[in-house]
Amino acid sequence: MPKIADNLTQVRRLIQQSASEAGRNPSDITLLAVSKTKTAADIEEAYQAGQRDFGENYAQEAVAKIAQVNHLDINWHFIGPIQTNKSRLIAENFAWVHTVDRLKVAERLNQQRPDNLPPLQVCIQVNIDADDAKSGCLPTETAVLGEAIRRLPRLHLRGLMTIPKEGSGRKPFDDLAELVHSLRRDGLPMDTLSMGMSGDLADAIAAGSTLVRVGTAIFGSRS
Ligand SMILES: *Cc1c(COP(=O)(O)O)cnc(C)c1O
Repeated sequence: MPKIADNLTQVRRLIQQSASEAGRNPSDITLLAVSKTKTAADIEEAYQAGQRDFGENYAQEAVAKIAQVNHLDINWHFIGPIQTNKSRLIAENFAWVHTVDRLKVAERLNQQRPDNLPPLQVCIQVNIDADDAKSGCLPTETAVLGEAIRRLPRLHLRGLMTIPKEGSGRKPFDDLAELVHSLRRDGLPMDTLSMGMSGDLADAIAAGSTLVRVGTAIFGSRS
């Protein structure tokens, strides 16, 4: 079996096993294949193995690759930091954006989302452990930003996303799950918790992740 297909099988198995240990249904967890720095041929190989959701971090790199594999029926997710001057590329080429963390960016994406496409599916990136080195809004700012996004007609608020400090275990994932529950109780509808990567997806699934973003474990290490 080609290497990427083989890796995908193993990652799917790990998701199933983590879900079953947590008493969860594995079909409630979407696998996002993070293809940043990888080639169109790598993406096609994963696609042939059944993968449909792909994540990219750099708008220009992504748009070039999206054009190369335009014949494939892929759901593209933007998961990198959003520079305001790249928001149009993102609004025009992606189905999902996981890294909205301020109103200005949300408003630009809303304005730039083409009318012939469905609304852009949005997660708010939360800096759950208040790490100075990271982007994301603070947990206390999330409700206000969520309410504002909800009023933008070309965006559809889906949930929260986080990238915890490495090696911090389950706590940040539990904290994000608690935050999404409390926002829902306050009337903000959301169905997505985008959390967990190659090294920590079991902890994220135990805490309630509905979408894991996996690069290295599928495509190998990045140079
Ligand atoms: C690169 C990246 C990933 C994938 O990380 P791996 O450790 O390679 O699985 C997931 N999420 C985000 C936001 C990333 O930038």
